[in-house]
Amino acid sequence: MSLIVEKFGGTSVGTVERINAVADKLILKHSRGEKLVVVVSAMSGETNRLISLANAISDKPSAREMDVLVSTGEQVTIALLSMALHRRGNDARSYTGGQVSIRTDNVHSRARILDIDGERILSDLDKGRIVVVAGFQGVDGQGNITTLGRGGSDTTAVAVAAAIKADECRIYTDVDGIYTTDPRVVPEAKRLDSITAEEMLELASLGAKVLQTRSVEFAGKYKVPLRVLSSFEDGPGTLITYEEEDTSMEAPLISGIAFQRDEAKLTIRGIPDHPGVAHQVLGPISDAHINVDVIIQNASAKGLTDLTFTVPRADYQACLELLERLVEELGARDVKGDDKIAKVSIVGVGMRSHTGVANKMFKTLADKDINIQMISTSEIKVSVIIDDSKLELAVQSLHETFDLDS
Ligand code: ASP
Ligand code: MG
Repeated sequence: MSLIVEKFGGTSVGTVERINAVADKLILKHSRGEKLVVVVSAMSGETNRLISLANAISDKPSAREMDVLVSTGEQVTIALLSMALHRRGNDARSYTGGQVSIRTDNVHSRARILDIDGERILSDLDKGRIVVVAGFQGVDGQGNITTLGRGGSDTTAVAVAAAIKADECRIYTDVDGIYTTDPRVVPEAKRLDSITAEEMLELASLGAKVLQTRSVEFAGKYKVPLRVLSSFEDGPGTLITYEEEDTSMEAPLISGIAFQRDEAKLTIRGIPDHPGVAHQVLGPISDAHINVDVIIQNASAKGLTDLTFTVPRADYQACLELLERLVEELGARDVKGDDKIAKVSIVGVGMRSHTGVANKMFKTLADKDINIQMISTSEIKVSVIIDDSKLELAVQSLHETFDLDS
């Protein structure tokens, strides 16, 4: 008998009809002999509604009470889904995070799971019950309610699957899997049958909308067999794997293309180059809680160097002002910026065993007359910064060059 954890996101349980539809499917699978643990999110829109209630009461709601509040969304869903299962003849049981001992640290609103006691869940399963667990929530060492960050129900599902050693963890969502790129930009984008957890993490901008990043990290750590599927249509979805890379000749070089608009680039020029410069420039940026992404420091000439880096476009003005103040402090020449840039990344474990992948990317962009402003690489990813207006063209031509269309 297989042991399965299934997770349904907010849209999948967004109405009474959808909760009933989920219950129908669960009963069917249960009757075919699957032991089922179901993790659910709050009904769609509910978490946001709760957050806006809090903001209407206070402009600085306490983090502890915020978690008490937002965790109620999931509690509603577990009860409703259990009732729907009762009507269909299963003696289902709902549990909040605390009731099945999902123990976390005490960092409210982004707590990390420390451990889960699977005993209660397993003993219910043995009695033929479908077990319904609230996603997104846990309790800290003092019994305070904590939550795991937006999208955290995915992590609950993976953690429960790891704790009870499930055969598979299935995440049902409103898309039918992970795609080679965003189909809105490339209509030929294809659903991937499988992708490695590593690639999935690097494809954050594609994957993050589908799975909470932390859930993939968690799955990787415990090697939880994880599958993303549509809750509205039947299909195999995308399986997240942990195998060694496929070194066969036909193995794809690239698994996907991720991109990010809404980036901005800043350069501080002519900084006297001595130990500590990068720290002096980037320290104040990080103190302002601005996330720096790609960083390049030029080889220095005549004791002066330039430092270029990218930040989210929303932080561009703040960053520019910060750097202008720094120019005087550090005796640098000036600051230049561009807030109309985008980042395009190709990702694939195939890069480890094949050479020339980056060059193929650069040639494709050159052929389309797209200027590369910055380059950064990791073991399985090459990212370039280009002009915002060339983003679509870049993604489409790379998708074709790397045979992702076929
Ligand atoms: N309900 C929470 C949220 O909206 C958790 C989740 O859906 O995974 O972020
Ligand atoms: Mg989600």
